[in-house]
Amino acid sequence: MNDLLIMTPGPTEVSEEVRRAMSRKITNPDLDPEFFDFYLNVCNKLKKVVKTKNDMIIMSGEGILGLESACASLIENNDKVLVLDNGIFGKGFADFANLYGANVKRWEFPYDKAIDIKKLEKKLSKNNDFKFATFVHCETPTGIINPAEEICELLNNYNILSVVDSVSSIGGVEIDVDSWGIDIILGGSQKCLSVPPGLTFMSVSKTAWDVIKQRETAVKGYYTNLQHWQNWYQKKHFPYTQAISDIYALDAGLDKWLADKNVYTRHDKIAKAVRKALVKSGLKLYAENGHSNTVTAVKVPEKIEFQELNQHMTEKYNVMIAGSIGKFKNKLIRIGHMGENCYEEKIYRTLKAFDHSLRDLGYQLNYKLHKIFVEEIE
Ligand SMILES: *Cc1c(COP(=O)(O)O)cnc(C)c1O
Repeated sequence: MNDLLIMTPGPTEVSEEVRRAMSRKITNPDLDPEFFDFYLNVCNKLKKVVKTKNDMIIMSGEGILGLESACASLIENNDKVLVLDNGIFGKGFADFANLYGANVKRWEFPYDKAIDIKKLEKKLSKNNDFKFATFVHCETPTGIINPAEEICELLNNYNILSVVDSVSSIGGVEIDVDSWGIDIILGGSQKCLSVPPGLTFMSVSKTAWDVIKQRETAVKGYYTNLQHWQNWYQKKHFPYTQAISDIYALDAGLDKWLADKNVYTRHDKIAKAVRKALVKSGLKLYAENGHSNTVTAVKVPEKIEFQELNQHMTEKYNVMIAGSIGKFKNKLIRIGHMGENCYEEKIYRTLKAFDHSLRDLGYQLNYKLHKIFVEEIE
């Protein structure tokens, strides 16, 4: 398993620098004053990634914890919450909002396309009395990127707070929280930043903080209650002991990310070449438009069983790609080309393994996937 290349859309490959950072000697994160400064500095690096001056919080737990905490902290009974749904994670927000007592309105859009701004604009013009709206920037299970800037502009026009799940886009796709006016953006360590799973982070706007501070009823949760994170630095107090080794890893991952001046063009170039290679060779992309630069989903070809393909590819070629989840299980194959995965050598090895595996199982491609990739990338 040592040699296995993990080309899934999270967790992604972790660099040696990051792994080494995790093995550093720890201190007591609740008592060592230097740790508070260190932690603040990591927050500042994250702010640079998403371009914001808003507060940044890092929590121990997976991306899902961030999504749930935003809902738990914003929602009071019967608050009207708009859930924009064009994918599995998008729809999932409705479950959290319901759990915390919201009056949820879920607007479903086609799952194989980015959210249509014109359609959204029309719906909002008739119905816009919402406390906040949720949507997913990159729908990881289907590889679709939504027009976050335009969606937030519409929401801001109606004074609807925005809660954006950018777990699989932060670091791989350019995001400008302050100029787009995102109230809460949610991220995770294990996707484009290529840090092991374990952390979620979010920026919180002043307006969102005011809503959280001024709520009339208590938040239904402790770990998910963002109120405990207000002024943590001034108070030199964390709501619970921080996962210090994970924070070390995130810091190292961010240093690597910040040093890479071509990060977005690299993602763009590689994603385009991957899509070209797949399509030219005869495979079918799932999405009609809005293809994400961080993950690509193709349909499982006829007469191929995803499980068999995946097992064959990991056992024979030492490369792991992903299937999908929910209703796309066994229907889509996904290649994660985000963060540390997003380098030509790794993609070449992946496409070659994918190409050979398909042929081994009797599926004939029009061209060699890896060859087309090389031609396209030049
Ligand atoms: C990965 C991911 C999450 C977080 O899921 P975990 O299972 O906690 O890692 C949330 N939203 C999106 C869009 C994701 O891709």
